[in-house]
Parts: sequence; C-alpha cells; structure tokens
Amino acid sequence: MAGFVLPSSVLLLPPISSLNFPKLLNFSRSFFLRFVNKVKIIDYLKFIIIALGALCLSFVLANLSHDVFSLNFLLLLVFAVFVAPKMVLTLPRSNFSVSFSDSIIFLTFLTFGGEAAILLAAIEMLASCYYLNSKGTLSFGKLMIPTNASITVLATTCAYAALLLLSHITAGLNPAESTRHLIAVLGILTFSQFIVLSLLATAFHSLVKRKNFWETWKHEGFFSSITQIFGAGLAGIVYKVINYADLLTTAIAFLAFGVAYLVYRQSIGEINDAISKAEDAEREKAEAERTRAVQAENYAKQLRVLLEKEEKVSDALRISKEAFQHSAMHDTLTNLANRANFAGVLRDLIDKSDPSAPFFVLFLDICRFKNINDSLGHTVGDKVLIIVAKRLLRLLYEHDVVARLGGDEFAIVLKDLSSVEDAEKIARKIHQKISEPFSLSGNNIFVELNIGIARFEREYTNPEEILRDADIAMHHAKETGAGAAIFDTTLRARFLDRIKLESDLRFALERNELSMHYQPLISLKDGEIIGFEALLRWQHATRGFISPADFIPIAEDSGLIIPITTWILDQTCAQIASWRALSPNYAEMIISVNISGKHLVHESLIDDVQRSLDSVSLPPTALKLEITESAAMENAERTIEILNRLKALGVMLSIDDFGTGYSSLSHLHRLPFDTLKIDRSFVYSVGENGENSEILQTIISLAKNLKMRVIAEGIETETQLALLQNLGCDFGQGYLMSKPLPVDAMEKLLYQKHNWLPQEKTDEAENESSDKPRKDEHLPVF
Ligand code: C2E
Ligand code: MG
Ligand code: MG
Repeated sequence: MAGFVLPSSVLLLPPISSLNFPKLLNFSRSFFLRFVNKVKIIDYLKFIIIALGALCLSFVLANLSHDVFSLNFLLLLVFAVFVAPKMVLTLPRSNFSVSFSDSIIFLTFLTFGGEAAILLAAIEMLASCYYLNSKGTLSFGKLMIPTNASITVLATTCAYAALLLLSHITAGLNPAESTRHLIAVLGILTFSQFIVLSLLATAFHSLVKRKNFWETWKHEGFFSSITQIFGAGLAGIVYKVINYADLLTTAIAFLAFGVAYLVYRQSIGEINDAISKAEDAEREKAEAERTRAVQAENYAKQLRVLLEKEEKVSDALRISKEAFQHSAMHDTLTNLANRANFAGVLRDLIDKSDPSAPFFVLFLDICRFKNINDSLGHTVGDKVLIIVAKRLLRLLYEHDVVARLGGDEFAIVLKDLSSVEDAEKIARKIHQKISEPFSLSGNNIFVELNIGIARFEREYTNPEEILRDADIAMHHAKETGAGAAIFDTTLRARFLDRIKLESDLRFALERNELSMHYQPLISLKDGEIIGFEALLRWQHATRGFISPADFIPIAEDSGLIIPITTWILDQTCAQIASWRALSPNYAEMIISVNISGKHLVHESLIDDVQRSLDSVSLPPTALKLEITESAAMENAERTIEILNRLKALGVMLSIDDFGTGYSSLSHLHRLPFDTLKIDRSFVYSVGENGENSEILQTIISLAKNLKMRVIAEGIETETQLALLQNLGCDFGQGYLMSKPLPVDAMEKLLYQKHNWLPQEKTDEAENESSDKPRKDEHLPVF
C-alpha cells in the first residue's frame, strides 16, 4: 500500500466511538491492583496472555514484509505512538471517548496488511499505556502494560486469522475497489476483534470481581463493540479518502479534519470545562444542600430531643402539680382529707344549705396521744394515727368525709342522716370500735377517743363555726368522760366562759391575783407541824375567788401551769426558808408543792426546781413535790425516769390523791415516792363510828409495805383522825387541824400553836403510841 495522509475530515463525522481504552485500562488496572497478589490464576492468565501475545508478535515480525516499512507506515506509526494517545476526546457526559487507535489499526490493516496492523496495535497500545501512566491518568499494576499490549495483539491477530480463515469468502473482496467490499472486510475484522477483545476482557473482569461471566459481558464487553464499529467506520472513510481523492482534495480534507478536530477539541474542552464547572457547582450545591439537610436533620433531632425533654418536663410538672395538689388537699401521713380540704367540703354543704339533706360534723380527739408518742416513739404514734384513719374509713360510708385536722384530731362529715340520735349512734360505734386494742411493734395499744357532734344549723355561715362547736362538744365529752357529746348552746357559753377565764389567767400573775395558801401537815403521832402543802389561790378582779378545781385544768390545758408553777416554786421555797428560820422547832419544816402532770413531763422542771432551791439556799429535803396518782401512772415509765432524776436532786416526792387513779402495783414499787397521800374521798367516807375504814387500812398497809410514809388529807372530824391514828397513818392535813391559810394568818398560828391536834386527842394518841410501839420506827423521820 502506498503512503497515505491522514484525512482531516474524519473529525467532522458525528460522534465517533472507538474501543473505550481508558475504561478498559482502568478495569485492567483495578483488576490487577486488587487481586494481582492474591489471585494466582490472574497471574497465570497474564503470563499466558503475554506469552501468546509475544508468540503472535514474533510470528508477525518473522513474516513482516520489508515493504511495509514505507514512509506512510512510519508516519502512521509516529501518529499512533505520539499523536493518537493524546487525541483521545472524552465526550461530555458520556462513557465514550473518541480515540483513533482502532481507526489506525483498521486503516493499517486495510493499507499495509494484517502483520503491520498487529505490530502497530502492539506499539500503539504500549504508547497509550505509557502515555496514560506518565500523565498520571492511570497507573498500571505488575505486567499490566505488556498484558494490555498482548490482548490487543491477540485480538488483532484473531481478527486477521478470522479474515484468513474466511479467505475462500474474502478472496474476491477488494476493499480498494468497492465500498461494499470495504464494509465486508471491516465487518469481519471488527466482529472478530470484538469477540476476542470482549471475551478476554470479560474473562478478566468476571474473575477479578467474581461475577457471572454472561452478566459481565453484557455490561462491560458489549460497549467495546460500539467503539470498534465507530473505529472501523472511521478507518473506512479515511481509507476511501486516501484511495479515491486527489492529492489536493486529500490535503484539504486532512487540513479540514485537523481544523475541525482542533475546534472540536477546543469546544469539547470548553464544554467539558463548563460541564465540570457546572458539575462542581452542582456538587457544591448538592454538598451545601446535603450539609443543610444534615444541619436540618440535626436541628430536627435537637428539636425532637428538646420536645421530648419538654414533654418529660411537662409530664413531671403535671405529675408534681397533681401530687402537689393532692398533698395540698390531703394529709401526708393518713392520706385523709386535710383541714383545708375538709373546710372546702363544709363550705359547699353550707352554701347548699339544703334542709332536706342535713349533715353532722364529728370532731374526734385521741386521748393521751402524747403519751403514745412520748413512750413508744413517733414512729409508733404515726402508725397509730394510720390505723385510726383506716378504721374510721372502714366504719363510714363513701359519701361521708373523713379528715385529719392535725396532730391527733380528726373530723367527719356524716350525710344522709335524719336525726342527731343517728349521728350519736354512729359516734358511739366509732368510739367503741376505735377503742378495740391492737398490737403494734410488740405493744398492746388502746386508743380512746372523745367525740363531739355538731348538727348543721342555718346560723352557720362558715366551716370554722361548725367545727368549733363540734370541738366544744368534744371537750365536754372529755371533761365528763362520756366519750361522745352533742353540742348545744349552753356548752358554747361554758366554752366561751372558759376561754375568757384562760385569757384572764394569762394576766393573773401580772395583776397579783394569784397567791399561795398554806395548809399545815401534821404529825398524827405528836401533833407537831412538819410542814405545809402550798395551795394556789386566784382572787379574780371581778369574779372573786375561783376554785383551783376550776382554773387548774385550764392552766394545764393552756400550758400556763408551767410558768405559774415556776412562780409557785420560787414563792414557796422562799416562804418555807423564812419560816424555817423562825424557830429551831421549825427548822426541819418542809413545803409540799403540787406539780401538774403537764409540768412533770416538761424538760424545764428539774431546772426550775433546782433554781428555786438555789435562790434561797434551801436544802432539797425541805421541798416535797406532789404528783397525783393519775399523772404518775399516765406514762409510768417516763414518770419513773423523771422522778429518779428529781430524786437525784435530793427533793422529796409524794404520790397525791392516792386511790383515785389506777395504780399498777408493778409500777408503784418502782416509783421512788417517799410519801403516799390518801385521797380525801376515802377519809371523808369514814362514818361516825369508823365504818368504811377498810380501804384506808389497805392503803396504809400497802404504803408501809412499799416503805412509804402515809399522809391522809381532808381530815375534818376527830373520828377520822382517831381512826387514821389507829391505823398508823403518819401524817394528816385537814380542816380539823387548819384550813389552807394565807401567809399572815398562818404565821400567826405558827406563833400560837405548838400542837396542832385537838388537845385531848393528842394526849390519847400520845398514850396509845407510848403503849404500842410503831411498826415503822425504822423508817427515817420524814
Ligand atoms: P390537792 O393537792 O389534793 O390539795 C388538797 C385539797 O384538799 C385542797 O383543795 C385543800 O384545800 C383541800 N382540803 C384540805 N383539807 C381539807 C378538808 O379537810 N376538807 C376538804 N373538803 N378539803 C380539804 P384546793 O386547795 O381546792 O385544791 C384542789 C386541788 O387543786 C388540789 O388538790 C390540787 O390538785 C390542785 N391545786 C391546788 N393548788 C395547786 C397548785 O399550786 N398547783 C397545782 N398543780 N395544783 C394545785
Ligand atoms: Mg396536793
Ligand atoms: Mg390531794
């Protein structure tokens, strides 16, 4: 074949694809890079391909005619090595690249024969690989460049072989003569080259990726057919131009081709630049959008977390609000309605004021609840309150309302009752059921209630009024020991009077309305005075004399008894100190002061006593404290502890009003009393002829057995005196000897009297006592 000039018009053709080298090379590269060391079979395959390629090439070189090496071939070779690799154009937005490799190979085939085409294919592939490698477009793994070159050699060789094998058909074909012949030859070449190339490429690919061969061929191998068809088409056109155009036309065609190629290349470059800029912009936009989306998602997440938190907080708030509302309206210990809640219920009922639906308010108070707390502890006390609350709920209907007003006070609204008697019946039932003993932490507990009942009347305008009246009735029940009482207006008058008295008592000390009277304590043996009982008197500015029996309970309830007793201790200690100084006969006199149960359990008592003694330097043995039997026994264990502490001070102790309380003998012998004072009711009941003396006798012998001195109070008659003397009672006090008197009057008597017993009786007593030695002579004198 004569030399030829590259036709320039080729570039003017519509999209021309050739074998997609970069893609194939890329595939080969990745295949080898990833698996070359791991998959030995690939290495073997490469060696085989290289060996076969080398064999083919050797065969080609051996058979290559010298005629081939013409100027045209060399130009073509130069073009294939130095120009064609650089002329690859990647079409915008496609997988195709326009390369001229196939065209050159096919053109060489048509022009210089198969051997020249095989040689050129090998050289062109090596040049392309080195070019791409040097540009950094691709990097080739071990043996990949010779493998690629061998694959091209093999494919071209096979195409040539196919042409030779079909020589009986192709023998008459002359591409130079007829376009149809040209197309047939190119078709055989293209088809056979495509078959070999795509099979080898697919074999590699499916081995590397471990994919199905057929699937791989469809996706990877098929594309190479398209690029080859275009390559063949281009080669055909160039071949035609070279063969049929004159020199000028060919030159113009190639010039036009060159210009068109450059323009096209520049446009494609610009398009590619614009596209890549647009793609960059799109990418940036997509990136920005993605960032925005991520941010939005993060915000959404944060918002969701915030919302969840807020929901949790609002849930917690709602729960705490409900709990707060509940606790605002309920007693935390018993879960009963509290005072505010109860007042609300009463308020509604009062507002309705429905005469057809009368209601009753019960006010309940646990007797001596403080003792439970003091003796068994507050935990037990709380449990008792809970048990009481439960029992109350069990006893009542659902429409009744039970509340704990505070401390040991409860209140109930009873509805749907026709009469106050029905309310009283329920109150009695409650009283009885609540009193049933129960066991708690190993203790047998008896709870006693006082219940006041108030019926709703139109005159009530607010809840406090009806509650107050039920409370008044409860106090009445307490005072009378009835357990339950119904309110009436006389109770309110008494209550108000009591309130008035209490308020007056607060100022009684300041107003000098309180004073002490002294009643002598006489030795029944010899009639000598051994001391006094100090008794409080209240001369009210308007009401006149008020009995201690009336105001002492008020003083106890209001707590005023403590400051009053402190004052009494100061007064009486000073008084006895001054009387003891009057004469040596009185130097051993004692003063007996009544101490209330309220003061006894108050922590200030010991200090109060000590301070009063110290203030006048009175020896403690000159002071005797009288504690009533009921006060001493109310909380015996506590009393024992306090009395022992008082005893440690050195003061004397006397149990007062003995016989009226409920002494437990087991406690009695543990209480450190020096003296037992028989209640005057036992002395009073002794008849003119000494009848009803059995109890006196029993108490006196009990006292002796307990190693206590005995004193009898309320001695009014000589018979009583004589009987007591006969029974061996040590001391006595009573109107028979002297009434309680103020200081002045008592002082006069102290100067006048030396023997306080009726004279003749004293003599008899003296005779009796001299005849009959006393059983208790071993006892200390007072
Ligand atoms: P009490 O401690 O048992 O005092 C004896 C009471 O018997 C006194 O009553 C006294 O006046 C009275 N009395 C003495 N001899 C006779 C008698 O022969 N016949 C009659 N009918 N009564 C006699 P008073 O002073 O009215 O005191 C009553 C109670 O008031 C006392 O009983 C005591 O419990 C209490 N009390 C009196 N003064 C005080 C005090 O200063 N402190 C305390 N806490 N209580 C006091
Ligand atoms: Mg007394
Ligand atoms: Mg008494």
